[in-house]
Amino acid sequence: MIAMAQEMDKIVALCKHRGFIFQSSEIYGGLNGFWDYGPLGVELKRNVKESWWRDMITRHDELNVPEGAPTAFSMVGLDCSIIMHPQVWKCSGHYDLFHDFMVDCKECKSRFRVDHVTVAAMIDTASKQPVACETYIHDAESADGLSKTQAKRLNKAVDQYKKEQGGDIDCEEATMSLDAYLKLFDHGAAIPPAGCPKCRGELTAPREFNLMFKTTVGALAGEEGTAFLRPETAQGIFMNFKNVVDSSRVKIPFGIAQIGKSFRNEITPRNYTFRSREFEQMEIEFFCHPDESRKWYEYWRDRRFDWYVRYGLAGDRLQLRDHDPDELSHYSVGTADVEYAFPFLDEGEFGELEGDAHRGDFDLRSHMEGRLVRDESGCLVVEQNEHGQPKYRGSGKDLRYFNDQTRERFVPHVIEPSAGADRATLAFLCEAYNEDEQPDEKGKMQSRVYMKFHPQLAPIKVAVFPLIKKDGMPERAAALYRELKQAGIASMYDQQAAIGRRYRRQDEIGTPWCITIDGQTAEDNAVTLRERDTLEQTRIPIDRVVADITARLNT
Ligand code: ATP
Repeated sequence: MIAMAQEMDKIVALCKHRGFIFQSSEIYGGLNGFWDYGPLGVELKRNVKESWWRDMITRHDELNVPEGAPTAFSMVGLDCSIIMHPQVWKCSGHYDLFHDFMVDCKECKSRFRVDHVTVAAMIDTASKQPVACETYIHDAESADGLSKTQAKRLNKAVDQYKKEQGGDIDCEEATMSLDAYLKLFDHGAAIPPAGCPKCRGELTAPREFNLMFKTTVGALAGEEGTAFLRPETAQGIFMNFKNVVDSSRVKIPFGIAQIGKSFRNEITPRNYTFRSREFEQMEIEFFCHPDESRKWYEYWRDRRFDWYVRYGLAGDRLQLRDHDPDELSHYSVGTADVEYAFPFLDEGEFGELEGDAHRGDFDLRSHMEGRLVRDESGCLVVEQNEHGQPKYRGSGKDLRYFNDQTRERFVPHVIEPSAGADRATLAFLCEAYNEDEQPDEKGKMQSRVYMKFHPQLAPIKVAVFPLIKKDGMPERAAALYRELKQAGIASMYDQQAAIGRRYRRQDEIGTPWCITIDGQTAEDNAVTLRERDTLEQTRIPIDRVVADITARLNT
């Protein structure tokens, strides 16, 4: 794994060149925040999603279970609609709270999230007023800092100020978010405006920007027909909690999972597929008794972290970060993020792959009673409007669970492991990227790029080559290729170019094994199997190839 930030350019180039990821609508110049997966990318992402579904749902109790972890619970799946009743988003809180504050540049028309703009201001220590300021973009994904030119400008402005004031004035630099800067200094007339980070043009005042995409259902115009593309898959699960309990007879504790598209009108989509406007989530809502929720929270947090390790994101590039108490949502007793040090981030920075949250009974109760908020004493109560009525009415349906053994009726607590399929795929792509040097057929050292995917994630598992295009080799190779495909093993046949080049083509797309049929095969019925990572070559009987590969895939 090559850890330098500039490697990201190479990864992006490889993804385009080999057909993993393309810009959406590229021939029209692309659309910011939207991406397409190419022939290999779609297989890679499908393998990520299928591994998740198999390990978390269909075979959650027998495959890849961490040692000693309990497995005696049910996991079932759902596939819900993307557009749901608008009341869902009112009671979930997304309608009122799912927004960012943004500012626009009046000159260059760029748009920024207020929390992504940092202001470096020179403050007069006596008057406590800023003398000059510069802005730059700073967020989890890019921490640019002040450029040399900006630092120079700041110092020059301070010198000028001192001259004007005619004295030896003390100034100190203070760095803060644009939000904090505006709150502190936006009231005085002589305050230097915190201009656009790109062109220093004037910025608008911060405005709220809801991240949900609006659409219109049916022929109704205006508010009545307004609906939203879901910003998360989780709410579809809460909507069907009762349906699942009544139809599949699951008993608490149990989990419901869903993989599907979500949409967020991100103000500044960036860093390749990391922050897109259309993306796929892999979410579980795990329902349990309130007395056991802390235990299950810790269970899922650790199990989900192990999942990424298992598929290759090990070492100091992966971390589990428990949220500080002040970062927690008002209903949560704990949240942890699984984070990865993507190569486009600065040294020491991590980006979120997944959030594992304890959500208490907030969601089900909100959909029963109406949107909940905390009162002064810290209790969750239904938010009221100015007439003392629920601001957003819940469904009024009884979403409690009845335990027929203990005769107890209660609103379950929920643990939510919420992962992004695109971010996981991107992390696996970044981690897989490797370069080394290997001798070619003539013994000359050649640089090699190879994608070290976990075999279960690799888009193609086996490539079959005839050494040369004659002496019955192509026929034998084609028959083996067909046999592998019939066994459900994603394979590729290639007879073009020298064998070394064919190996390198496969290394570049992360194919773990290449099989070559050569002149000797006709005599000993054996083939050469070459491994991507170790370059080791072994002879195996041709009629054992499918069994051998199947065994390797299942270890
Ligand atoms: P961030 O803080 O990065 O915006 P978030 O905390 O809002 O993420 P969640 O609402 O917890 O994210 O969503 C769960 C998961 O969905 C994230 O961990 C991430 O993997 C994925 N996800 C969220 N937003 C995006 C996006 N804009 N593009 C791609 N994946 C996303």
